[in-house]
Amino acid sequence: CGFVAIVGRPNVGKSTLLNQLLGQKVSITSKKPQTTRHRILGIHTEGEYQTIYIDTPGLHIEEKRAINRLMNRSASSSLSDVAMVIFVVDGTRWNADDDMVLNKLRNIKAPIILAVNKIDNIGEKDEVLLPHLKVLSSKYDFTQIVPISAKHGTNVDKLMEWAKQSLPDNVFFFP
Ligand code: GDP
Repeated sequence: CGFVAIVGRPNVGKSTLLNQLLGQKVSITSKKPQTTRHRILGIHTEGEYQTIYIDTPGLHIEEKRAINRLMNRSASSSLSDVAMVIFVVDGTRWNADDDMVLNKLRNIKAPIILAVNKIDNIGEKDEVLLPHLKVLSSKYDFTQIVPISAKHGTNVDKLMEWAKQSLPDNVFFFP
């Protein structure tokens, strides 16, 4: 079964990316974190093969509140049958939670593509992005690192291209 999981801490742009990938507004984006309560599935069928996109609820490190614990659990369990992971980080903001999300991905055998989002908004902040990337890529051997703007669609085609190449033969990637 070929799930393509889009994971990352809240507010990095997972829903926005999913919308771009599907070419339609199927999920909810908001400035407020934790608004993506449900796994919203985007399904692409080609012949007998199906790729299902899941937008995992934010993986929360701060587990003080029960809702966070719940969301964490569903996010982790949804990754057990995954064909590929698109790990999204916000290129404009260093956040140690990215490391925590990465730790959760450690046991996953599937290829992981690192999508560095919001490059449209980086501007003068290159000094933020580069150390961020250095740390992340030293901790995991990503299949590919792709800078993107989910909002404007920049490099989303490249991301899809890499994703197609990384997926097993029996799993199709949209479109
Ligand atoms: P999620 O919680 O990871 O699903 O994040 P969302 O998709 O809801 O996005 C969080 C916020 O970041 C929203 O205000 C988006 O408009 C904004 N955002 C997402 N992608 C981009 C991007 O590529 N560039 C910029 N500048 N903002 C983005």
